[in-house]
Amino acid sequence: MIFYKTAEEIEFIRNSSLLVSRALAEVGKYIKPGITTLSLDKIGDEFIRDNRGYPAFLGYRGFPNSLCISVNEQVVHGLPGNRILKEGDLVSIDCGVLLDKFYGDSAFTFAVGEINESKKELLNVTRASLDIGVNQAHIGKRIGDIASAIQQYVERNGFSVVRELVGHGLGKKLHEDPEVPNYGKRGSGSKLMEGLVIAIEPMVNMGKKGVLQAQDGWTIYSEDNSPSAHFEHTVAVTKAGPEMLTTFDFIEEAIHENAFTR
Ligand code: MG
Ligand code: MG
Repeated sequence: MIFYKTAEEIEFIRNSSLLVSRALAEVGKYIKPGITTLSLDKIGDEFIRDNRGYPAFLGYRGFPNSLCISVNEQVVHGLPGNRILKEGDLVSIDCGVLLDKFYGDSAFTFAVGEINESKKELLNVTRASLDIGVNQAHIGKRIGDIASAIQQYVERNGFSVVRELVGHGLGKKLHEDPEVPNYGKRGSGSKLMEGLVIAIEPMVNMGKKGVLQAQDGWTIYSEDNSPSAHFEHTVAVTKAGPEMLTTFDFIEEAIHENAFTR
């Protein structure tokens, strides 16, 4: 069942989403070769709590940390730990926040130091595919229009879309209907109506589309061990068109001031 949000509810989701965006930027200030993923998790956790929020992933189905941090061939749901980031890594950070009873959700893949050209291309294509998906989120379009626009753009650029994990509705719950896949047929799926709030989140592998789950019971990684990227926005469907409730603007500023990432 899909819950359509009132304008007032969307404002609450916007506040949660802004906190998510600012938390990701805070973490982005500290990304550099030599730092562990667990230290990044702590920075995010503290920032969220200092700003009245609660880290939505902590305890979700037993998830032990506040951020999902996935490095290189890890696609999503990576567990923060003692892994030390090194020059040339990609680090995907997914953050969810509960604030005043509403959730926000966003993800960004950072480069650690200098990365090679093919990784740069992967980041550019994945991020552009998210924008392309968001731009489909107009009243009267369908979930499949978002899905197929993302898939076509990604595949045209020689990369592949992960099938096993999808975007989702959100609001009073972190995951609500409908599912928002990153592949599919134009014109299929439920119709987008005013007040729909969805997380659009392409996960893109440089190699083949297959993924596996690690022994830790959480981390999803590419089956061929090729690098993977993940970008996510929380988006409201409004009369004025798609409205992004999360933003990468704060992250851009943080990256600009951090010599060790881009
Ligand atoms: Mg997320
Ligand atoms: Mg999500």
